[in-house]
Amino acid sequence: MKVAIYPGSFDPITNGHLDILKRSLEIFDKVIVLIAVNPKKKYFFTVEERKNMILDSVKELGLKNVEVDVTDGLTVKYAKEHNAKHLIRGLRAVTDFEYEFQIASANEFADKEIDMIFFMARNETTFISSSTIMELHRNGVDVSKLVPNAVYKKL
Ligand code: ADP
Repeated sequence: MKVAIYPGSFDPITNGHLDILKRSLEIFDKVIVLIAVNPKKKYFFTVEERKNMILDSVKELGLKNVEVDVTDGLTVKYAKEHNAKHLIRGLRAVTDFEYEFQIASANEFADKEIDMIFFMARNETTFISSSTIMELHRNGVDVSKLVPNAVYKKL
């Protein structure tokens, strides 16, 4: 069984994340959406809230073969422990590329056996990020078309 890990903050999960998840399920038998907790980072939502929003969104879209988990350790380490050889990430702009390239190099240094797979953002979701969603919402813009219902309700 081919298992991949899709790590991220998911603070909260957006239609952009879900598009990447759907596309990765075309390749892998199972995808574990992994909330990677960085103690130095400040989050809008608690881990429990983020996890529940992901679970509800996956249910809402009827996606099968998805699990949701949390780690505060290295994602490559988590991948190895869960028999996954691939990490999924998404690329929106050139700025994403620089960041992702750095993470990919660090991951390679930590464990050469784990590889990364990148999906290009679709045109319609390329501007969507969790922080943009929160900023638009805070300023009274309707974001219902950018996030799953489960997240919209929570906002
Ligand atoms: P992180 O804090 O690890 O970057 P995010 O939740 O912001 O976590 O993003 C997780 C992954 O999903 C990243 O690889 C990011 O580039 C990707 N991603 C986020 N939003 C989109 C989108 N709209 N289209 C494509 N990929 C996206």
